[in-house]
Amino acid sequence: CYRKGGYHAVRVGDTFSGGRYVAQRKLGWGQFSTVWLAYDTQTSKYVALKIQKSAPEFAQSALHEIQVLSTLTENDPENKKCVIRLLDHFKHTGPNGQHLCMVLEFLGDNILQLIRYNRYKGLPLNKVREICKCILTALDYIHRELNILHTDLKPENILLISTINPSKDPIKSKTEPVLNKVEGNVNGGVALNAIEKKLKQRAKRAVARISARRISMGGVKAEKAERCVDGIDFRCKVVDFGNACWASAPMAEEIQTRQYRAPEVVLQSGYSFAVDMWSFACTAFELATGEMMFAPKPGQGFSEDEDHLALMMELLGKMPRKIAVGGLRSKEYFDRYGDLKRIRRIKNMPLNRLLSDKFKLSVNDAREFADFLIPILDFAPENRPTAEQCLKHPWLNKTPESGIDKVEGEMGKLQIKG
Ligand code: ATP
Ligand code: MG
Ligand code: MG
Repeated sequence: CYRKGGYHAVRVGDTFSGGRYVAQRKLGWGQFSTVWLAYDTQTSKYVALKIQKSAPEFAQSALHEIQVLSTLTENDPENKKCVIRLLDHFKHTGPNGQHLCMVLEFLGDNILQLIRYNRYKGLPLNKVREICKCILTALDYIHRELNILHTDLKPENILLISTINPSKDPIKSKTEPVLNKVEGNVNGGVALNAIEKKLKQRAKRAVARISARRISMGGVKAEKAERCVDGIDFRCKVVDFGNACWASAPMAEEIQTRQYRAPEVVLQSGYSFAVDMWSFACTAFELATGEMMFAPKPGQGFSEDEDHLALMMELLGKMPRKIAVGGLRSKEYFDRYGDLKRIRRIKNMPLNRLLSDKFKLSVNDAREFADFLIPILDFAPENRPTAEQCLKHPWLNKTPESGIDKVEGEMGKLQIKG
């Protein structure tokens, strides 16, 4: 994909925006972009540089993402809303064309990686609660204050916040001159292949050490990471607003990553904020269990969509007839009684039993967690609680000592639909 219209190839030490940002190492990539750790020579801080592919359709979507991100950042001057911040943006011309670049605050690993470090066993419930609070804070902010839907919420798009600021790291003092020197020499026209190589190696090593010490636990062996999971104050932010849209102007018909897709999207019955709530519940389940809540596959005589609907009904009971037959695609999957045409026998396994029997949560923990999730997984989107309502749910405000019943005042009394 490193061709005309595609990704921009970056090497360690490359500079951007008139020399302001110096590339350090690749952090990740997606369908549209590569993301690099870069050193901001103006603020002496590390940033994440998201470099979009150059073809016009990618440029268009980057412009949209910049617009959404600017809105998010401008309306959260105190940086309290658990969403990624846009620091700067610019155009960069390379051999493959012109690339829009977003400068984002530098965050840690995503929570899918965290689940992996924990060997897919699921995180302790008090950590799940902390992460859920961050995600809900972000959703409440974008939904209620900004009228924006994320439409691609999933563990990969939730990033941990590094508590160690790399710019305060002693390594910086070594990294910075190294990079400046590389550039200085290049500018001075000195033949310096060997020196440059050495310097870059040092820069790489320095950055590797930073990342090894980062809270995100990059490169830490599994057993070590497992212990880490226990000692961390889990704070995180929602990222990747490339598919976000204003509720007043929904963009695509098919939104969301398959496993986190709401039933109204599968059936094409129209959608709004409640699709993010559905994805949130799927994400919370995955954090606690290490497994996806719904992982549909096409089978003999039925499609992936049909398997998905069947899995939902296994866990949540029969879909009300009105909802089952109410979408543009309903006729493909359901008969007029609201039964799936091609998957007839659906065995019901209630969520609290799944949590206790398969995932070994205590009966009490399983019941409380299920009580929190079930209303968010209502087949009727209008019945799902909002992020604001979820934030007041007693399960989130339960501390290990207090027990759910002892939460006092309004919060304890508040019940969301269930
Ligand atoms: P997608 O195909 O998912 O739409 P994308 O091209 O929009 O991808 P992102 O999802 O924004 O790109 O970023 C790709 C990856 O880069 C992320 O999964 C993450 O690992 C890393 N990344 C993105 N932003 C940051 C950041 N601010 N700090 C650290 N790492 C980041
Ligand atoms: Mg992404
Ligand atoms: Mg994206």
